[in-house]
Amino acid sequence: MALALKTAAASSAATTASSSDVQQKVATILEDVRARGDRAVREHSARFDNWEPESFRLSDEQIAEILARVPEQVIDDIRFVQQQVRGFAERQLESMREIEVETLPGVVLGHKHVPVAAAGAYVPGGRYPLLASAHMTILTAKAAGVPRVVGCTPPIRGEVPDATVAAMHLAGADEIYLLGGVQAVAGMALGTETIEPVDMLAGPGNAFVAEAKRQLYGEIGIDLFAGPTEILVVADEHADPFVVAVDLLSQAEHGPDSPAVLVTTSEELGRKVIEHVDALLPDMPTRDSAEPAWRDHGEVHVVADLDEAYRLADSYASEHVQILTERPREALEKMRDYGALFLGEGTCVSYGDKVIGTNHVLPTRGAARYTGGLWVGKYLKTVTYQEVTDPAASARLGEVCGRAARVELFEGHARSGDVRAAKHGDAELPW
Ligand code: NAD
Repeated sequence: MALALKTAAASSAATTASSSDVQQKVATILEDVRARGDRAVREHSARFDNWEPESFRLSDEQIAEILARVPEQVIDDIRFVQQQVRGFAERQLESMREIEVETLPGVVLGHKHVPVAAAGAYVPGGRYPLLASAHMTILTAKAAGVPRVVGCTPPIRGEVPDATVAAMHLAGADEIYLLGGVQAVAGMALGTETIEPVDMLAGPGNAFVAEAKRQLYGEIGIDLFAGPTEILVVADEHADPFVVAVDLLSQAEHGPDSPAVLVTTSEELGRKVIEHVDALLPDMPTRDSAEPAWRDHGEVHVVADLDEAYRLADSYASEHVQILTERPREALEKMRDYGALFLGEGTCVSYGDKVIGTNHVLPTRGAARYTGGLWVGKYLKTVTYQEVTDPAASARLGEVCGRAARVELFEGHARSGDVRAAKHGDAELPW
């Protein structure tokens, strides 16, 4: 039985109520963009972002001017990180083998991976310029071979986010729009007079963006449900409580709705972590987000042993799980439900978010129970094909098909089998 040294102050009822409010708001904006296209996009951008440029799409000249404004060190770092993300994405792509096998003599079955024709990338930026999301979405789509990649990012408090636009361009975006929120998602997914619709949307975002993608799923493809960030740390008595506290706050600063949870086998460590967090928070420049996140969604649980810690951690299916224990790789074997694992003190969630090369678009709100994060494979459709090269095999399949289809009362299906059994074998047509 776990001992809770700190529980979340916000009730789940409050979260549910705000979710239905978000659902309603998002549905209204989506319907408006569907009905009125560019005019609706423009009005919602003006309303939520106070942003109404002549054109939301950046021209080549504008992109060149923006790039020239970005400091060289920032560009160098973007190139470094994009090399890491591309390097891992390309290795992942190599691991996706296409197959063609003979399952019976003369029966050839295969599958291949075909990139979607057009993908939309949402690069969030309401609160911070999340340029790393540009590498994760745009570059990964390009590595997968997507011919047309459209990127949208909002202005930040009325300003052009130069570094984000640079990252989007260097990642290979074919079109860049300065547009945020539901109106951006709707514009890319549904199309307007000036934006050609895409086949699939990817990228993280706040609750409105994540909800918009959820409502559009089916009409277009989406990567996954990647809403407000979450961190869960599993720590034993060997962990450094100061590092644990710093790392919990590294994700709490994403926003006031970002959960930060510690599961530890050491009550002493748990208490020290709480002390460190309380000491660090007042001076954090991002206190506005981190403090309410920790107050309302911060939790510290003490468990009897690491097996219980892994079970409890799995029950959260948290987006990021950091393992700060004596033998961190043990979690690879023992845990099932997480977006990404960060093994040992040498790495941290911030490396995953910003520099190391694994994708940072990851499942939230329990979606890690059924999906991993964004990767090249999400931009590829695994499609199958078949061919029967031996007439005798076709005749044999035809006979079985005729019988199997008639069990299901599908006479039309059955006849397709019958004609092959008769043409390629010695069966009589039964009709
Ligand atoms: P954002 O770009 O997601 O959202 C900003 C937009 O929200 C604005 O352009 C505005 O149009 C819209 N908006 C704001 N208030 C609104 C309202 N009341 N009604 C309708 N629309 C409204 O940027 P953000 O807000 O800074 O959020 C980024 C989010 O991305 C954070 O929650 C962060 O945790 C999350 N994130 C998740 C992952 C992941 O993989 N799960 C990765 C990185 C970031």
